[in-house]
Amino acid sequence: KAKESLRGSHCYFTREMEQEAETRFRLLHNLRKAFDADRLFMMFQPQVSVADGRPVGVEALLRWRTEEGEMVPPDRFIPLAESSGLIIHLGEWVLRTAMLQLKRLQHQTSFNLRMGINVSMDQFRHPEFLDVLDRAIAETAVNPQCIELEVTESVAMIDRIAVNKILSSIASRGIKIAIDDFGTGFSSLSYLERLAVHRLKIDKSFIDKLQGDSADPRLAEMIVNLAKDLSLDVIAEGVELAEQAEWLKKINCDEAQGYFYARPLEEARLIEWLHEQEQRLA
Ligand code: C2E
Ligand code: MG
Ligand code: MG
Ligand code: MG
Repeated sequence: KAKESLRGSHCYFTREMEQEAETRFRLLHNLRKAFDADRLFMMFQPQVSVADGRPVGVEALLRWRTEEGEMVPPDRFIPLAESSGLIIHLGEWVLRTAMLQLKRLQHQTSFNLRMGINVSMDQFRHPEFLDVLDRAIAETAVNPQCIELEVTESVAMIDRIAVNKILSSIASRGIKIAIDDFGTGFSSLSYLERLAVHRLKIDKSFIDKLQGDSADPRLAEMIVNLAKDLSLDVIAEGVELAEQAEWLKKINCDEAQGYFYARPLEEARLIEWLHEQEQRLA
């Protein structure tokens, strides 16, 4: 009887939530299976110098193609991997795979490239993260100077002393740190000068404003100037148009990444692309 009276919006909502939980459970199950079956892979998006388009690095981006051939976007499965703890294992695999890829790239092109690797907060905070990092570097024999870990502004939410301990340990290995999606977080700016970071990645939302008659470069320019004042490097994310690239020159942003220059590419296509750039710049 009580159940009867609960019919209506409340029960409907609960059923929706149940369904949602079930979908997530199935997705996570499939993700684990895909990981075990080596069906996850990396794509690599070039990062270039704004002045002449010269490649300066690549960002490793995780991809999942299901058995049915459907691509599941990382924004959908990374949060799932995070909430289930799978990210620790997965993240270690990403580190090693991206480092190995960089080794191969360095043999195949004359550009001195760095490799950007996204690291989840849970990975970063994990007590064994530094060991995992050391092991990956040792096993792949990659030059740590060419590795750049991308973390979001939420690092600033962790206890400041703890963060700085991790960041300086990473820096002492020669590894660089970039703050991803910069400008979208809730953190105050004062933490920045005290954190051992090397680069700001200007979030796409600020780059989106660099177009049209009502273009507004103010925030992007402010971030570029902030980076320069703090002696940090800076890169623009999500550059899709020539017009945006022109703006970046005007506001003195030195590096960029986005579909305008190149989409995320599979290894073979990336090497072709790099060779094309070698010829263009020769
Ligand atoms: P992110 O690190 O900020 O990566 C940039 C995202 O913007 C990528 O999406 C990239 O494909 C996309 N992008 C690049 N240029 C353009 C452009 O010009 N226009 C538009 N509309 N998009 C552009 P993706 O690959 O879907 O990745 C989404 C997010 O998932 C990443 O954001 C990152 O936070 C996370 N992610 C991806 N791979 C990994 C990974 O290996 N580990 C972890 N922890 N997170 C990852
Ligand atoms: Mg990133
Ligand atoms: Mg980003
Ligand atoms: Mg992001």
